[in-house]
Amino acid sequence: MSRRNIHTQLVRGQPLAGDAYNATSTPIYQTATFEQEHADRFGAFDYSRSGNPTRGAVEEQLAELEHGARGLAFASGLAALNTAVGVLKAGDTLLAHDDLYGGSHRLFSRIAEHRGIRVIYADLADAEAVRRRVTHGVNMVHIETPTNPLLSIVNVREVAAAAKKVGAITVVDSSAMSPYLQRPLELGADIVLHSATKLLNGHADVSAGALVVADTVTADRLAFIQNAEGSALGPFDSFLLARGLKTLAVRLDRQQASAARVANFLAQRSEVLRVRYPSLETHPGREVHRSQASGGGVVISFETGDRELSKRVVEALSLFSITVSFGSIASTVSLPGYMSHASIPAAVRRQRAFPDDIVRLSVGLECVEELIADLSRAFSAARHFDSQVETLPLPQRTAADALV
Ligand SMILES: *Cc1c(COP(=O)(O)O)cnc(C)c1O
Repeated sequence: MSRRNIHTQLVRGQPLAGDAYNATSTPIYQTATFEQEHADRFGAFDYSRSGNPTRGAVEEQLAELEHGARGLAFASGLAALNTAVGVLKAGDTLLAHDDLYGGSHRLFSRIAEHRGIRVIYADLADAEAVRRRVTHGVNMVHIETPTNPLLSIVNVREVAAAAKKVGAITVVDSSAMSPYLQRPLELGADIVLHSATKLLNGHADVSAGALVVADTVTADRLAFIQNAEGSALGPFDSFLLARGLKTLAVRLDRQQASAARVANFLAQRSEVLRVRYPSLETHPGREVHRSQASGGGVVISFETGDRELSKRVVEALSLFSITVSFGSIASTVSLPGYMSHASIPAAVRRQRAFPDDIVRLSVGLECVEELIADLSRAFSAARHFDSQVETLPLPQRTAADALV
């Protein structure tokens, strides 16, 4: 059967097989159990941890959107990542890009390593490092592209091809792009991972994660772990995810058009030393990104050279709310060094040249002129701030305290 256009896939989703009333939106099967006709033979569903029709519908839709064999929906992006890492056993080696989401770093260093998995990090945005580090003995390669918040670009085709040669599984965290802009399985990856809390849901009203797998053998192993560990997404949250997906394309078209305008505005400001946005002319990974994704996305980050100034800009904004996370229809701002990436130890952040003054914006659906005016006003307020007035100190969080 020929594949439906992605706009149609998003809006129409997957009709629920066997729905008695032909519901036009995904019904919520808010039940833990399903009565069986026979004591010795089970029907399609028996227990919601193992399978639920509402979750099944969104899982099928995710598989179709990512062009994979099977989709799996989880209670969070990290539950999805934990499941992917679950195919490794003690003694195996996981090679991860050295620029990654703080929670992923914490899962690798505080959970996976304790299970006896050897975790090594390398700059996989560098082709030479990919050749040197993706070698025999590596069992899984994990990358994010674009990364969050440094927005570095990893060449998925190169990494996946190198991993395939040595028999390693490639996992691509595509949370910053969604299948509307980037489909890693088509570039050779084995597993694509999403924090569906971000763009896929898009409304900041659900925590969810997803894995979509290229082959059915790996998919069945992951589904086994999902059931055995009990990390699947609940029926109501599956409904919210399915509902959010319907508008993914229109949200992204509009949000990334606004993001491009905001990035250009930032590039002109004297307070801004450096803007990172994957489709800006000046972005070092622009060509690779263009070869594997069809848009810059909604996340922009910038540096001011002074973390106090960055903090004042962030706190002076009114339309961008200070929030961890990104990808919602409402614009948000964060200081990743103190928020989403606080779970990466400070020494490791320094070693990787993670700028403490970096500000991350996620551009939403508000009027873009108002967003730019808000930024403009915040820069002026932050610059004219009287340095005699005391500001609250930046939070001193330790890796152990960090929630995200
Ligand atoms: C947020 C995020 C995650 C974790 O997802 P949760 O839904 O918060 O568990 C993983 N990877 C990236 C790139 C993220 O931004």
